[in-house]
Amino acid sequence: MKLIPLPAFSDNYIWLLHDDQHALVVDPGDAKPVLAALQRFNLQLQAILVTHHHPDHTAGVAALQQATPAQVFGPALEVTIPAMTRLHGGQTVQCLGLSLEVIDVPGHTSGHIAFYGVVPDQAPLLFCGDTLFSAGCGRLFEGTPGQMLTSLQRLATLPDSTRVCCAHEYTLSNLKFACAVEPGNAELLAYQDKVQALRAAEKPSLPSSIALERQINPFMRTREATVIAAAKGFDASAHDETSVLAALRQWKNQF
Ligand code: ZN
Ligand code: FE
Repeated sequence: MKLIPLPAFSDNYIWLLHDDQHALVVDPGDAKPVLAALQRFNLQLQAILVTHHHPDHTAGVAALQQATPAQVFGPALEVTIPAMTRLHGGQTVQCLGLSLEVIDVPGHTSGHIAFYGVVPDQAPLLFCGDTLFSAGCGRLFEGTPGQMLTSLQRLATLPDSTRVCCAHEYTLSNLKFACAVEPGNAELLAYQDKVQALRAAEKPSLPSSIALERQINPFMRTREATVIAAAKGFDASAHDETSVLAALRQWKNQF
């Protein structure tokens, strides 16, 4: 099974997974890079997975539906695409011989879902859209800090080796903020060096892993004393995990 991030717009990734014959894509905001990749690798598109309703994740779906036999799967609560299978958390999608589990991850949008799959002989995969980014999380456009906290806590329970396939290359700017929150986190500083080298070579920083995010992502570290203290420095009323996450999110918005 091969995993390829197709760059789209200024900083989106459309994830393509294929077995040299069939393929799936996640969040195709643009059909063009997907059609080009299908042609280049001679693949038939079997499924289109959608995590949430924002146009940079959905605008290419109609053209791909027209050009390919792919089935579309998306969140029951928010996307209205004709001929789409509407999914709730706990359901599974069968595709490319894999069984992908749907996880409800509200916060960025109210019906946002993620897809998690075990892959034979490889690390598991997580397609998390705009919920979890490397060293960060999505903005709270529709959901509450409490919802985002619960969503990130759920994702943090996935196996350490899980490949985290985020929908945007935001890692470097997230790392600047993460270093302001935890300037003494050695793993974080080492990861920043690694990502700077990857980006200087024009390589994607993703996929990340759940183990790494648990070590370096401030939004997944709302129980750590250093993170709580930093959040209190921004908003003195921060006291529990939800208010720490809310303070971090607000701080990041104006960082
Ligand atoms: Zn979005
Ligand atoms: Fe997005």
